[in-house]
Amino acid sequence: MRRELGVIAGDSVAADDGRERDVRDAATGAVLASVPEMGAREAARACDAAERAMRRPPPSGERAAWLARTAALLRDRRSAIAQDITAENGKPLREAEGEVDYAAGFFAFYAGRLDVLAPRRLPERPRGCGWSVHHRPAGVAALITPWNLPLAMLAKKAAAALGAGCAFVAKPAEATPLSAVALLRALLDAGVPEGWANLVIGEPQPIGAALLAHPAVRIVSFTGSTATGRRLMAAAAPGLKRLSLELGGNAPFLVFDGADPELAAEALVASKFRAAGQTCVCANRVLVQRPMHEAFMAALLPRVARLRVGDGRDSASDLGPLIDRRGWDKVAAHLQDALARGARLRHGTMPTPPAHAWGCWFPPVVVDGMDPGMLLCREETFGPLLAIGSFADEDEAVALADGGEHGLAGYVFTADHAQAQRIASRLRVGHLGINTGVSPTPEAPFGGMKQSGFGREGGDEGLLEFCETQTVAMP
Ligand code: ADP
Repeated sequence: MRRELGVIAGDSVAADDGRERDVRDAATGAVLASVPEMGAREAARACDAAERAMRRPPPSGERAAWLARTAALLRDRRSAIAQDITAENGKPLREAEGEVDYAAGFFAFYAGRLDVLAPRRLPERPRGCGWSVHHRPAGVAALITPWNLPLAMLAKKAAAALGAGCAFVAKPAEATPLSAVALLRALLDAGVPEGWANLVIGEPQPIGAALLAHPAVRIVSFTGSTATGRRLMAAAAPGLKRLSLELGGNAPFLVFDGADPELAAEALVASKFRAAGQTCVCANRVLVQRPMHEAFMAALLPRVARLRVGDGRDSASDLGPLIDRRGWDKVAAHLQDALARGARLRHGTMPTPPAHAWGCWFPPVVVDGMDPGMLLCREETFGPLLAIGSFADEDEAVALADGGEHGLAGYVFTADHAQAQRIASRLRVGHLGINTGVSPTPEAPFGGMKQSGFGREGGDEGLLEFCETQTVAMP
């Protein structure tokens, strides 16, 4: 039986009280490994270890070397790590391999980018002084991550935190701790010294409370649901901790008259069904200008019909199972609600409920006749339910796309360049694809507007997120 552990001060550690929990295969339910069920005490000790580590700040050249070696190790271990991701999360193996590359990309990018942190000297001499501006590490970073890209979501935070000079304590999602264990192993093998990278696996509430209560923790970087983000924000208030919150999205996908329907359909299928629709940038609300509607459906439906649902280890599978029964129930509820409100099935149907907590298969479903009153328009579906509505003109498209509380990703397909630029300036989303469904990349900042959160990951902004600005004046 495989037994994995947390990491505190460079040591592999079990829970203080010895409690353990099974991690199960998302497709088959087979027990993959046991992991510790840690709590508040272990989290506080991990923060202490991180605080001690930060008393001896390494120069940026040394930190860059940690990052570069970690990138190389992740790439070397791509196949084994991808198998763990597929097992615990369910996504197809080729997507899991892509996730390892994406994760390694953050370490590689920041390894070559730490010059962004160099101090700058002001050209002026106000108040009779020379002035310099420094980017200091904010303090110990708490990193709380979700199950949908379990390696990459931790990698982007860990790479930026270490790059900025912040030691971290990570808490992975309950369903997917194995990818986090693999990342910690790579960091330690890359020579990251004890205390800089800690991993606490266990119950979210007590661990979260301990991380937010610890005085050395100065920044909490969280990716997950908007509801949990709000809770963390309230819990961060007493200690005035900085927050970086990447929360839910509900991405609009606009197709204007004159756009290439084949290109748009191809991009939509890639964006919508990645991770079986369980990413925060997945296209969720497809809006097509009325004259384009049937041409677009004609391009879309055969592509959806070709998608295969199955075990992620089978190379023929395009979609694995959903993460769990709760996730399955939400997609089913959105479909039921849409049909009750007049949406029409264009592909697929309501599947039979899963018999177990695992193997939550949900074949793709396409409906049209979407309207803003439907649940799937107001909330993130997080599954392979594709809903299509329509609009008359640009103003209506923007009003529909921008309605609601989210503002993470959006996609616009148009042949009119000026129109694309106008829409980009009007849509409050942090990530916008014009004639592409491309997903975020390590080199570019990514994050939300409105209730999709604040703070950026990736790009120079992602590094500066973990820094505080200090101004030094000297006569
Ligand atoms: P989801 O609904 O997608 O599981 P969550 O926001 O619940 O999203 O989970 C994202 C991450 O936040 C997970 O690691 C989860 O364990 C963690 N989490 C959930 N609730 C809390 C909490 N109260 N404090 C700290 N972390 C939490």
